[in-house]
Amino acid sequence: MPRQAYVNGRYLPHRDAAVHIEDRGYQFADGVYEVVPVFNGILVDEDLHLDRLDRSLRELRIVEPMSRPALKLVSRELMRRNGLTNGFVYMQITRGVAPRDHKFPKGAKPALVMTTRQVKPHSQQLLDEGLKVITVPDQRWDRCDIKSVSLLPNILGKQAAVEAGAYEAWQVDADGMVTEGTSTNAWIVTPDNRVVTRDATHSILNGITRITLLELIRKEGYELEERCFSVDEAKNAKEAFLTSSTSFVLPITQLDGKPIGNGHPGILTGKLRQHYMDYMQNLKKSA
Ligand code: PLP
Repeated sequence: MPRQAYVNGRYLPHRDAAVHIEDRGYQFADGVYEVVPVFNGILVDEDLHLDRLDRSLRELRIVEPMSRPALKLVSRELMRRNGLTNGFVYMQITRGVAPRDHKFPKGAKPALVMTTRQVKPHSQQLLDEGLKVITVPDQRWDRCDIKSVSLLPNILGKQAAVEAGAYEAWQVDADGMVTEGTSTNAWIVTPDNRVVTRDATHSILNGITRITLLELIRKEGYELEERCFSVDEAKNAKEAFLTSSTSFVLPITQLDGKPIGNGHPGILTGKLRQHYMDYMQNLKKSA
């Protein structure tokens, strides 16, 4: 069966799936999204992702297109149709279709699109070498906590990274403090082995991987600080890493061309990655 997508109530071949030209997501980026990772056939932290989706919708006053049980049902049906075992479910909800006008349309029905993507495991080479990251100015708005489809600064940052031969760009605020990556959260380990990541304010997206890893870090008893850190502190850190639903936990070995620590993936980073992989491995299937 060819890969399928879900579009406003219908399962369609992915290549034919389309939305209306006056969908407000297309015209105004007036919408939100979620990426729920799938590991060994299990939707990882599904309810945390759906809680964040609800919150994003509430903050933008977009109506829920369907109930949570219905969303879960569609995710599972699409996974089944596409034979998805490892990868992610992408869901996007926009304010709907209406004649182009900035103000909220009256009576527009929210539009829901869902797709899945199979993803290969990270290569051993990538895990052994670690990632290069560059820094870019954070040019985003004041509500980065909302998972909006409006991602232009993130796209420009990621493209700058690619053009510099790097995997990710860490965005830096006006005070010289790292906010987060363009699609990942940013972490360092200090010379005295404290794990540091920025606190979850409106300046970052509170990653679900971040939330789960924070819990694992507390459970394992590592020293932890949720606070801002500067580019300078990051360059002099013992270790650095990033997290996201598709990256899980990945080591960073270079920032703006400067090796982090001894230039190899950090030992604590490796342990945290393992804790996170074990966490996913031990998840049980839910209906
Ligand atoms: N920060 C930004 C800007 C993101 O876009 C993402 C993921 O897309 C993350 C952080 C990581 O969030 P999560 O762990 O929920 O994937």
